[in-house]
Amino acid sequence: MTTATRSTAEWQSADSRHFLHPFTDFKGLAKKGARIIERAENIYLWDSEGHKILDAMSGLWCVNVGYGQQSLIDAATRQMQELPFYNAFFQTATPPAIELAEVLAEISPPQFQHVFFTSSGSEGNDTVVRMVRRYWDVLGQPARQIIIGRNNGYHGSTMAGASLGGMSGMHAQGGLPIPNISHIEQPHWFELGGTQSREEFGITAARWLEDKILALGPERVAAFIGEPVQGAGGVIVPPSTYWPEIQRICDKYGVLLVSDEVICGFGRTGNWFGCETLGSKPDLMTFAKGVSSGYIPLGGVMVGERVAKVLIEQGGEFNHGFTYSGHPTACAVALANIKLLREQDVVRKVREDLGPYLAQRFAELNEHPLVGETQSCGMMAAVQLVKDKAARQCFDGALEVGMMCRAHCFANGLIMRAVGDRMIVAPPLVMTRAQIDEMMALIKRCLDLTLAQLK
Ligand code: PLP
Repeated sequence: MTTATRSTAEWQSADSRHFLHPFTDFKGLAKKGARIIERAENIYLWDSEGHKILDAMSGLWCVNVGYGQQSLIDAATRQMQELPFYNAFFQTATPPAIELAEVLAEISPPQFQHVFFTSSGSEGNDTVVRMVRRYWDVLGQPARQIIIGRNNGYHGSTMAGASLGGMSGMHAQGGLPIPNISHIEQPHWFELGGTQSREEFGITAARWLEDKILALGPERVAAFIGEPVQGAGGVIVPPSTYWPEIQRICDKYGVLLVSDEVICGFGRTGNWFGCETLGSKPDLMTFAKGVSSGYIPLGGVMVGERVAKVLIEQGGEFNHGFTYSGHPTACAVALANIKLLREQDVVRKVREDLGPYLAQRFAELNEHPLVGETQSCGMMAAVQLVKDKAARQCFDGALEVGMMCRAHCFANGLIMRAVGDRMIVAPPLVMTRAQIDEMMALIKRCLDLTLAQLK
């Protein structure tokens, strides 16, 4: 049955009878009915009622090249005709997986010459846990088990991914975190910076890692993991002093540094990887989403030479992998995606033109009475809604001002995400300046409507 053959109500009814959505109150959604997205082109979506919607979240931080890119579609078709699937177990490989590994090594920082493929970011972070622990075992330091993450960080939803992340709502369900995962506070100046300047606070926040390492005992700490810019936590851009200090601390105690690039990778911050923009030199990088622009599931871990050398030369068999590790069709689509990013010089354009323009346009929102701060990095940005700007005083959470604003976005043809009272965007990297203007006009209108509703 094609999409054209059912009404919205019919779709919603079938949806609520059979489909359990991720991160969803099932009963609440069944009552309300899902919005049915039927098609997309460039940066726009159309729902089953015919509404055109500007997708300022690139699907779920992933459709970086926008919708309808024919070269990605053709790559999938060609590969499916030739060899839709073959595995990489048992000493076999397929050309697209080999070629993608080669290209990823080319575009990654120089310490990365090897990749382990998965189908998602969560599987990538599970792989990180397995790999980091194996690394220290092989080196004869099995006590190095603990991986430190951050409160309000997001690293996926598998047992290990959710444990590494610091989302209290996730930890509250299913007995998480798993053992030997620890957390420090996030580098969120607006909430935690007090009277310190941003730069001072960046050092303070990084030193929380040193305090934690010392409290746990450096001989027990295996790795630190963080997103260069926290995405799902609310596009929290750390002060410029933060990551270099984190790097210094990891180096001092020999702790592996893991950069979760699932959102920040593939141009989002204006470089191929967020660690290049924010100033760290990680040992491992998790990626997903933007590697294939979300056209097909693909993820993985870039493995730096420090770890790769030990696992390859001393590690023996690594007892880990997935049916779809190196899926040829997924890899073929990723190759087409990276080719497009390179041919259209997308990463440089984000760094030199679109990112600065988005930052400028977001900074203008600081004039708005509801806005306490704006932050941006490349093609991701946030607006913090506040009750009192000068006092950095937030609204009572029960008011759900962010959800109020999101409802206005919904009704006005804009997809913008609310994280508490922080409204965030991560639009496709191929947007034009005119489309940024169009998005900003919608955002401004929705902020005005929210303010009017609060009066
Ligand atoms: N890491 C980060 C930084 C993410 O933002 C996400 C998803 O949003 C993940 C990991 C998990 O990726 P996936 O949903 O593909 O498992």
